[in-house]
Amino acid sequence: MNIGYVDLHLHTTASDGVKTPSEIVRYAKGKGLQAIAITDHDTIEGLEEGLSEGEKIGFEVVPGVEISAEHSPGSMHLLGYFLDIHHAHLRDKLNYLQKARAERNPKIIENLNRLGIRINYEEVVKASGGGQIGRPHFAQVLIEKGYVRSFQEAFERFLKKGASAYVDKVRFKPKEAISFIREAGGVAVLAHPKTLGVNESSSLERIVLGLMEEGLKGIEVLYPEHSPLEVAQFKALAERHSLLITGGTDYHGIDKDALDIGVGRGEMRLPYSLVEGLKSARNRS
Ligand code: AMP
Ligand code: FE
Ligand code: FE
Ligand code: ZN
Repeated sequence: MNIGYVDLHLHTTASDGVKTPSEIVRYAKGKGLQAIAITDHDTIEGLEEGLSEGEKIGFEVVPGVEISAEHSPGSMHLLGYFLDIHHAHLRDKLNYLQKARAERNPKIIENLNRLGIRINYEEVVKASGGGQIGRPHFAQVLIEKGYVRSFQEAFERFLKKGASAYVDKVRFKPKEAISFIREAGGVAVLAHPKTLGVNESSSLERIVLGLMEEGLKGIEVLYPEHSPLEVAQFKALAERHSLLITGGTDYHGIDKDALDIGVGRGEMRLPYSLVEGLKSARNRS
C-alpha cells in the first residue's frame, strides 16, 4: 500500500510564488512528501526546471498549470495535470495570455500613478524575480514602498476586482481552456469551487455538468479555504458524477500566509491515490 502524501496545487517564481521550481521540489522532498504538482497561473515556464530537478533528486513532479477562465460573479480556475509541456498549441495559448499581461501591467501602473502612487514598471519586474508578473508583485512593491502594510490592504484598496487600480485580465472561456489542456494530453480539474461565488448547490452542479461536457475530469475538493461542510458537498458532487477528487494547498511560499506545502494550515493530508486517479484518467483519454 502506498501511504505517501502529495500536494497538487503549488506556485513558483514562474508565476506568483516565492520559491523557484527547483527550490519547491527540494522543499517538498525535504518535507517528506511523495509527489507534487507545479500549477503556476497561466504559465508552464517553471515546469522544465521543476521536472528536471525532480529527476535529479528522485522525486515525482507532475507537470501542471492553473488557467483563469471567464466566469462571474466569482472566479473560475481550471487546473491541468500531466500536460505535454512541449505541446505547440498549449504554448501558443499561454503565450497569448503573456502578451495580454504585458499590456495589462502598464495600465495598472498608470492607474496607481494617477492615484498619486509613485511606482514604476522596473520595480514590479524586480519584485517578480523575472517570471510572469501578477498583482501580488504590485502588492509587494506597495508594501516595500510603505503605501500599504499588507497584501490584504494592497488588494482591498487598489488591486482586487473593482478596486481603484484594478485592470481586468484576459481570460479564455472555460470550454477553450479545457480543450487546450486536453489537447496537450492533460487532465482538466475544476480548482477550488468555493471561489466560483455560487451559493446554491444546484447552480454549482449545473456549472460542473457544463464543464463535464467539455471534458472536465475532476474537482479540487481538498483545499485550505474549503470548510469541512464544503469539502463534504464538493466530494459528494464529485462522487455523483464519477469525477476525480484532487487537492492541494495553493502554497505560494509567502510565510505569513501561515500555510505550508502538503499540510495547509496543518490539517491537510493528501494521499498519493489522488495522483493515481489522475494517472488513470490520463490513460483513458
Ligand atoms: P493576477 O493573475 O495578476 O490577476 O493575480 C492574481 C493573484 O493575486 C492570485 O493568484 C492570488 O495569488 C493573488 N490574489 C488575488 N486576490 C487576492 C487577495 N484578495 N489577497 C491576496 N492575494 C490575492
Ligand atoms: Fe496566485
Ligand atoms: Fe486559483
Ligand atoms: Zn493557485
